[in-house]
Amino acid sequence: MVDVIIIGAGVSGSACARELSRYNVNVCVLEKGEDVCYATSKANSGIAHAGYDAKVGSLMAKLNVEGNKMMPELSKELDIPFIQNGSFVVCNNQEDLDTLKTLYDKGVANGVDVEIITDRNRIVEMEPNIADNVVAVLYAPATGVVCPFTLNIAMAENAAMNGVDFKFNTEVVGFEKTDNGWKVLTNNGEFETKYIVNAAGVYADVLHNMVSENKIHITARRGDYCLLDKGTGKHVNRTIFALPSKFGKGILVTPTAHGNLLLGPTAVDIEDKEATATTSEGLNELIAKAGLNVKDIPLRKVITSFAGLRAHEDNHEFIIKEVEDAKGFIDCAGIESPGLTSSPAIGKMVAGILKEKLGLEPNPNFNGKREGIIASNELDFNSRQELIKNKPAYGNIVCRCEMISEGEILDAIHRPLGAKSLDGVKRRTRAGMGRCQSGFCSPRTIDLINKECKIAMDEITKSGGKSQIIVGTNKDSL
Ligand SMILES: Cc1cc2nc3c(=O)[nH]c(=O)nc-3n(C[C@H](O)[C@H](O)[C@H](O)COP(=O)(O)OP(=O)(O)OC[C@H]3O[C@@H](n4cnc5c(N)ncnc54)[C@H](O)[C@@H]3O)c2cc1C
Repeated sequence: MVDVIIIGAGVSGSACARELSRYNVNVCVLEKGEDVCYATSKANSGIAHAGYDAKVGSLMAKLNVEGNKMMPELSKELDIPFIQNGSFVVCNNQEDLDTLKTLYDKGVANGVDVEIITDRNRIVEMEPNIADNVVAVLYAPATGVVCPFTLNIAMAENAAMNGVDFKFNTEVVGFEKTDNGWKVLTNNGEFETKYIVNAAGVYADVLHNMVSENKIHITARRGDYCLLDKGTGKHVNRTIFALPSKFGKGILVTPTAHGNLLLGPTAVDIEDKEATATTSEGLNELIAKAGLNVKDIPLRKVITSFAGLRAHEDNHEFIIKEVEDAKGFIDCAGIESPGLTSSPAIGKMVAGILKEKLGLEPNPNFNGKREGIIASNELDFNSRQELIKNKPAYGNIVCRCEMISEGEILDAIHRPLGAKSLDGVKRRTRAGMGRCQSGFCSPRTIDLINKECKIAMDEITKSGGKSQIIVGTNKDSL
């Protein structure tokens, strides 16, 4: 019997886990994937939105602005790559100026620092590659870019360091009400708990609807992206947004926290909650639309494409509250964009609800600080030499594109909630994120996982489930 079971180890579930670990409370996270950061939290724009776009007075607006304000401090505390680079929403013709003004008014009402710039010289000085027909922009200095993987992993790791238990490959399939709370049924046994937090992303409606007569509905809204090679991030200084439409914030062009350039996302509603394959129409659309706002995008440097699924709730609002007809079941549902930005505030809100319900006392041993994995290629020459002298594995480069050493991969494997798959290593260290997309380093990484985790070669996966990479030896087929 635990006090709280959190379903889902994306940014929402991990933020809730970390905030709850500030208290003396027994928390367990159940995740159907083989790792944290398994679903939408790994495939998004990585923008810490300023908060001018969310509906005035909504919970979404409140948590967006709060989360954005928490991000600089949190990134220092948990060693998360984060750059507050600011953003432009661009207006390409005079007729759209009213829409830009409406966005400005929303920003002001949400308490966000925003400015409309109509001086073309100033716009071009700030963004030399802005499209020639841009007549005005909405400037929001508080916008930032954050590494979405590290944000998710760091919050989960820190929660684990402070006593939260994580169970992977554990899919929740049903619930039974008990006298003291709930029995949670999974493919990996049954768990008893006083409270449940439903942070299951695009599946939060499915779980909610198992316990409540007041149904909710979440549509998976797919967004395709193109990612360009490292170094291209300098093409723009800020995140460049199109004017928002009813489908969201439109196609953006942004540097990432690691210096790549990212184009996307599209917005297409789909039935299948697992359909994360990109489409040629989507990629063509985003390339065409990105070019409307930023010129001379170096498209020859595209190194990969990917898609993520927004958990679009019918009322386009975060649902964070105890379900009225299912006491002890707390929804954290409809967490679409700006969910990444809002996640620290979402965690705080959910922990606040549970603190009151369970009468929680502070955990005197809570340590909110997390040391990240050393990025040895960012060290100066002397510090790197010193590191290699003490730990020779840091002198052994495994991923040549991103210059990631064996030392970093060993750290990723052995730290709390360590990596067990190729993608697990990739998201923690960036080995495999570069221009060859792991063509060169994957055999070396597989070898390290095999030796360090004692997982057989043919059981090592790209990202859990049936994604094995080695299916037999050459001679098997002879
Ligand atoms: C295209 C796109 C662009 C975006 N851009 C931004 C942005 O720039 N800035 C921003 O702030 N936000 C952005 N977002 C939104 C942000 O990515 C999400 O709001 C956030 O990642 C949601 O996190 P989550 O933890 O709620 O969901 P998820 O990350 O989806 O996590 C849910 C977890 O629950 C697990 N799960 C599901 N069902 C079960 C079950 N039955 N049992 C056990 N586990 C289960 C899943 O495996 C998953 O790991 C974007 C989203 C998309 C799709």
